[in-house]
Parts: sequence; C-alpha cells; structure tokens
Amino acid sequence: MTTLIHYGELALKRKNRRSFENILIENLKKSSGGRIRRLNGRLILEDGDLNSIKRVFGVSWFAHSYRMKKSLEAIIDTVIEKLGDVIKDSPTFGVIIKRADKSFPHTSLELAKRIGKEVINRYNLEVRLNNPDLAIHVEIAEEVFVYFKKVEGLGGLPVGVSGTVLCLLSGGIDSPVAAYLMMKRGCRVNYIHFHSYSANKAVLGSKIADIVRLLSNYGFESRVYLAPYNPFQFSLLEKGIPSRYELVLFRRLMLQVAEKIAKDRGYKGIATGDSIGQVASQTLDNLKAVMGGISLPILQPLICFDKREIIDLAKDVGSYEMSIKPYKDCCSILAPHPKTKTRIEQIDNLEEKMNMEKVIKDTLGLVEVYEF
Ligand code: ATP
Ligand code: MG
Repeated sequence: MTTLIHYGELALKRKNRRSFENILIENLKKSSGGRIRRLNGRLILEDGDLNSIKRVFGVSWFAHSYRMKKSLEAIIDTVIEKLGDVIKDSPTFGVIIKRADKSFPHTSLELAKRIGKEVINRYNLEVRLNNPDLAIHVEIAEEVFVYFKKVEGLGGLPVGVSGTVLCLLSGGIDSPVAAYLMMKRGCRVNYIHFHSYSANKAVLGSKIADIVRLLSNYGFESRVYLAPYNPFQFSLLEKGIPSRYELVLFRRLMLQVAEKIAKDRGYKGIATGDSIGQVASQTLDNLKAVMGGISLPILQPLICFDKREIIDLAKDVGSYEMSIKPYKDCCSILAPHPKTKTRIEQIDNLEEKMNMEKVIKDTLGLVEVYEF
C-alpha cells in the first residue's frame, strides 16, 4: 500500500526544510510503523498504519495512492480499474491533473480529456469540474500517482522542530489540550504532575497515566516528572497559612519546581492550561502573582479560549472522557475560595513565612521520572 503525504512546505525557509523533513520522517515512521521515501517536496509511506498519519503534526494532507508506469495508457488503465472500488453512487466526476514533470508528452488538458472520455464510456458518469462527487487526482512528477480521496492532516509543525517544553499537567480538561497545542507548534512536550498520593508510583495506575499515553500518540515519547504535594501541605499546616492564599501559593510552588527542572534539563519553556478568568485562581492579578519571578517563558496556549472551545478541542484530541473521570487533584483539596486579587508583596511575605525555598528543595528531592 502506498500513501502520498504532503506537508506545508511553503511556510518553510530553505535552511530549515531539510531538518523539518527529517524530523517529520522519523515521526511518521514511529507512528505508522511503515517505510518512508522522500520525493521532491513530499513523502511516500509504504505499508504502515494509514490512520496513524491523522495524528502526526506537520502533515497537511495525505492520500491512499496507486503507482504505475509513466505512460498515458498505464494511467488510464489504473484509473478505470481502481475507480470501480470507489465509485459507489457518485453521478459526477472531475479529473484533476498535477503535472510537475514538464517532459511528460501529454499536456494536463489532453490528459484530463482522455481520462474523462474513458470514464464516461466505461461508467457512464457526468463531468462536473466544480465540486464533483468523485475527484480523480493524477500527479505526475518523478513518479506517477493516482488517488481519489485527500484526507486532511493536522497541520502545524512536526513535533521536535521547536525544542522541548515542560507542561504542568493536572488531569483536568485544560492542560492536556494545552500540551496538544504546544505539540502542534513543533514542541516536544514533557510533563510534570503534582499529586496527593503517598507515593509517586500510585499515579501510574491513575488517569494521569492514561492521559499521558494518549498524548504520546501525538508526541511519540513522553517523560513525566511526578512530584508529591505533601511537603507543601505539611508546611501550610505547620505555619498556619491563611486558607485563601493556599491555591496561589501552590501554583507558585508548581512553577518554581518546574522552572528548576526545566533549567537543569535545558527545556525552553513551561506550558500551562491557564485561561483568563476561568476560575478564581486565574484572574490577571493572580496570574501575575503566580508567575512573578519565573525567568523562563511561560506558554499558555489556552489563555484566550472559552471553556466551550477547550472542551470541543479536548474531544477532538481524545482526552475529554479521561479528563472528566473523578480524580483526587491537589487543587480540589486546597481551600475552595481563593483570593482573586493577590498582591505580589503578600505572596513574598507568605513564601518567607512558610519557608518556600525549603519546600521547593524538599519537593525536588522527592521527584521521580517515568518514561512513556
Ligand atoms: P485543568 O483543567 O487543566 O485542571 P483548571 O481550569 O482546573 O485546569 P487550575 O486547576 O487553576 O485550572 O490549573 C491551571 C493550570 O495549572 C492547569 O491547566 C495546569 O497547567 C496547572 N496545574 C494545576 N494543577 C496541577 C497539578 N496537580 N499538577 C501539575 N499542574 C497543575
Ligand atoms: Mg485543574
């Protein structure tokens, strides 16, 4: 089986193109299990799982294709033979020729007419140039391909061309979608999750592992850092921190731990699923207080999305059903009514009071890494 794969090459600068192609080829091999050949400006997949291409970023479209000798007779024979399988009840058809090889002895118009005539004779269909029920595509370049159905790809950039980011993954609806959108722009995504289990290992049996496995369909390899929440909780109780500040302080802890890991490992940014005003901890004032002092870019692909839009995307990604399953999230243990206007000076004082530096160090000491 042969699949023709096109990618968005027009957007590419010449010097990036080769590495873009190489990374896309590796990703296609990993996801489909097939062999890839490179033609001018497009790729050919031999064998492999066709459906998996729908999950590979960087593909603009692909088509299950037939190959034949580069001659008018061979093209007509293939079209007539294969059309029988796809014709169903399509009363109209159109022939679309792409003739990149200008040395091919027939012009596009000539080809379209000859093929069209044979199709009418054989199947009694009617020609319609605009939006026909059945499109017969013929592509003539180094090799010749015939195909009937273009399938739209995910677009975006191949995962890996933009470097690696660390995504704060909560198990809710938003953060898996944020990770997906980062991958769409070519980022490899690793994850950090803060949990309220007594041991990191327990997370591996939870929905968090399911979500990471799902996201690995798009990102191929996922590294997950698991961090327990109890050093933070212990300090909250011991130092008597007012409950309305718990959530903002917890979010500061998460970002500072993530920043340390990201810097040590050379990640280029930290991604979160924040969206302005969605919950009380996500007012602009709170986002400012939470993110103050972090020196890596904090990437928030959902920052202006409505919940409705995020849910629709989560359904497309496939994470929605996993995300709505019950889970003992740390944020749900924390006090439910956080201050909506936290000032950075208040936070500085409270961080000092609870010895945040030590909490960060203790938490980092308990982090474990798992590969998916
Ligand atoms: P989500 O649906 O992703 O849980 P949310 O709308 O519930 O997001 P918050 O709980 O305020 O929002 O969290 C905002 C962001 O903080 C999340 O999108 C995620 O990036 C990060 N986050 C929250 N809880 C955790 C956690 N336990 N571990 C890691 N990151 C977290
Ligand atoms: Mg959450």
